[in-house]
Amino acid sequence: MYYVSTRGEAPRLNFKEAFLTGLASDGGLYVPESYPSFSTSEIASFKQLTYQELCFKIMKPYIGKSLTDKVLKDIIAKAYKDTVFTHSAIAPLKQLNNKQFVLELFHGPTNAFKDFALQLIGHLLEHFLKENKEKAIILGATSGDTGSAAIHGCKNCKRADIFILHPHNRTSDIQRKQMTTVLDKNVFNLAIKGNFDDAQAIVKYVFCNQEFIEGKKRLIAVNSINWARIVGQIVYYFYAGLALGAPERSISFSVPTGNFGDIFAGYVARKMGLPVDRLIVATNKNDILSRFINKNSYKKEKLVETLSPSMDIQISSNFERLLYDMHNGNAKKVKQLMEDFNKTGKLSVSATVLKKIQALFFASKSDDKAIVKTMQVMHKATGEILDPHTAAGVKSAYEFADKISSPIVTLATAHPGKFPVSLNKAKLKLAELPDSLAKPLKAKEKFKILPNEAAEVISYVIKNSL
Ligand SMILES: *Cc1c(COP(=O)(O)O)cnc(C)c1O
Repeated sequence: MYYVSTRGEAPRLNFKEAFLTGLASDGGLYVPESYPSFSTSEIASFKQLTYQELCFKIMKPYIGKSLTDKVLKDIIAKAYKDTVFTHSAIAPLKQLNNKQFVLELFHGPTNAFKDFALQLIGHLLEHFLKENKEKAIILGATSGDTGSAAIHGCKNCKRADIFILHPHNRTSDIQRKQMTTVLDKNVFNLAIKGNFDDAQAIVKYVFCNQEFIEGKKRLIAVNSINWARIVGQIVYYFYAGLALGAPERSISFSVPTGNFGDIFAGYVARKMGLPVDRLIVATNKNDILSRFINKNSYKKEKLVETLSPSMDIQISSNFERLLYDMHNGNAKKVKQLMEDFNKTGKLSVSATVLKKIQALFFASKSDDKAIVKTMQVMHKATGEILDPHTAAGVKSAYEFADKISSPIVTLATAHPGKFPVSLNKAKLKLAELPDSLAKPLKAKEKFKILPNEAAEVISYVIKNSL
């Protein structure tokens, strides 16, 4: 299996190289040269598999020769062992009514779906760095969930030091503490005196100005441009689909969406043969994707802060992967669209491409009021307490129910206990918090406050890692 860039001008790489490279050198994203797919009878034979066994089947074609079967199985076993994912089903499915379901993706160490991919990434990284006799610096900025999932995924990787920047005093208490209470020597939390965009800008600057590392270590990104993140997320679409009668019956999914990484994995599951009927893009007030799907207008607007912060994103990086596929791998066209978008802040596609997109995707948005209302209504009707991101997904799932004949699964992307402000607004109270949320609240924190300057971050990295 080889990977090519969506912009067509970067080297073709195998899984290991694409994994360690992250963003392609032409500014594009790596995608598989062609997608593997399973026959109906192969998919039917997956029904009896455990989550880990299914994960192996799905990942294997993407890994190619980069890992032996034994090593891949070992990595999967470590990523999803019962001390890491505390629910025996890993991703349990819950029924809301005769048509609607939620897939709980929050039983990992940081209680959001990002653990599914980042647990794998930590072990993949450890293996590849060892094989290469290399050391790495992981650098990323976070507004909440990605940073903690990356820290918990990579803290045991002794060949990597991990530096995560968060905006000082601007994350929720629990989101910060899930990062800052990890006291391992190779984990460095940096609170930047600025907002998330400032922290992100520093990370970008460091990636573009790596001379200070003098080739001593490899600089690695943990954001959702890494193909391994998508692969780790395809598995639970199959898992839920099989539980609800695939391959004989088709299924639809509603996905709370920000960077388009999670829902893109659902799109890939469909390409691999899973009978996915419809994919619903659920956004909050930052609705660039819903405007695009409904009105063919992908236009950058001002970012607004909402109760669902992990979806507060203006530009969805993984959207480029969909554009590439919808243009049948025409990298020239994608390059032109993305370059125009970077200049003008706007993008639209041809009527033919839009038709293809609308034949599969529905999209709608929820403002904070609708999210709180959905949390209350669902609690009353089903007893379930949803987090604000999941509530946006469920709201869209109900909105489109009349137009969809298959069962609809909303991905429950985070545990409600992570978002106490929304719970208060909805006047809902959890009976108890899982240990992974309760313990950090009382634990000792370690972090360094730094001014909003790339030079300060660079000298901190030099002092602590080089
Ligand atoms: C990251 C995140 C999302 C958005 O996922 P994307 O892959 O960026 O679309 C939704 N909900 C929660 C809780 C998240 O942490």
